[in-house]
Amino acid sequence: MNLKFNNKKVLLRVDFNVPLDKETFNINDETRIKAALPTITHLLEEGAAIILMSHLGRPQKKKLEDGSINVEAFTLKHLVNRLTELLGVEIQFCPEVVGETATQMAAKLGRGQVLLLENTRFEQGEEKGDEELAEAMAALADIYVNDAFGTAHREHASTATVARYFDEDAKCFGYLLENELKNAAKVTGNPERPFVAIVGGAKVSDKMLLLDTLINKVDTLIIGGGMAYTFMKAQGGEIGKSLCEEDRLALANELVEKAKEKGVALLLPSDSVIADDFNNDANIKIAPSKMIDEGWMGLDIGVYAQNEFSSAIQSAKTILWNGPMGVFEMPKFANGTKLIAQAVAKATQENEAFSLIGGGDSVAAINQLGLADQVSYVSTGGGAMLELLEGKDLPGVKAMNS
Ligand code: AMP
Repeated sequence: MNLKFNNKKVLLRVDFNVPLDKETFNINDETRIKAALPTITHLLEEGAAIILMSHLGRPQKKKLEDGSINVEAFTLKHLVNRLTELLGVEIQFCPEVVGETATQMAAKLGRGQVLLLENTRFEQGEEKGDEELAEAMAALADIYVNDAFGTAHREHASTATVARYFDEDAKCFGYLLENELKNAAKVTGNPERPFVAIVGGAKVSDKMLLLDTLINKVDTLIIGGGMAYTFMKAQGGEIGKSLCEEDRLALANELVEKAKEKGVALLLPSDSVIADDFNNDANIKIAPSKMIDEGWMGLDIGVYAQNEFSSAIQSAKTILWNGPMGVFEMPKFANGTKLIAQAVAKATQENEAFSLIGGGDSVAAINQLGLADQVSYVSTGGGAMLELLEGKDLPGVKAMNS
């Protein structure tokens, strides 16, 4: 963000993909808007004219019966009043992304003024990374700033292609994107040791690449959540009707072997809270995770596992957490996730460990528990953070360097 923005027109790609109330179109959660405010404020202070662009939802997939876009449901116009309030600057709205109106409104835009373009996904070419569309977007401004971390893993016109139409000294990342990359690098680069990663959530298949990448990096790998039962079964355990991916059993064993070879401590929950039904009113009991009765399922880690995981976390200097330890949406199965969140917060506060809450439902959990300000960094981008942690290049980042 150290370009000269004074009197420049800045095309700022943000992630304003916020959930809207289906009837009133009020914003249900404005976290993403607030995350973009530091960059917007800085640009205003520096004397820029800002052209904001974002996507909202999936309008191409949810067209009206006659095949046209459902403008009312997906227009960014719904954000104008709240944005005006938050910024204290009147937001002008352009009912298209590119075209004559957009060109005229952008041309008239002066220092300190803000223009919000319509939903980028109203354009057919957006998700295809269309060059003509990207070129037309680029023609609106002098400088391109990308602050949309949540969509940086998409090779779209407004997130990646457009960057190629700006010279190296006329494009940069915004504060949010820069911060996400900086914090991810603390675990993907040269983390302070011991490095403990905690991976949970529903499926092994979603986190396969992440687990494989982490085994080459960490000192301790903790696996909880639904995915742990595929490992239990692979090792000959009885898991009742717990989540299990039969086609990943061999892979689970390979990961266990790989951990042994690399000297990585792989911790699986030795006990579980098991239930006779997938709901909060089910009967529950504690059982060894490899001896779950028929008809029962593991929905949270047990007390022994909580203690074992917590003490591993206490020894860490770097912590990465991605995915809940159980079905934390139901209070009866939220304890494991809660205790792990508390252990991560404690290690951060008392041992000065660096802790990254890296995307997905662990972010929802840490926020729900009110512990977000007691960990080092909470990522705002689920899919994008997962891809970074898997060691992939993000198209939105790569395009800035080409
Ligand atoms: P993910 O998006 O992969 O991080 O998965 C998050 C989801 O995994 C949450 O909705 C949890 O309810 C679910 N989950 C966690 N543990 C279990 C479990 N033991 N059985 C079933 N689902 C689980």
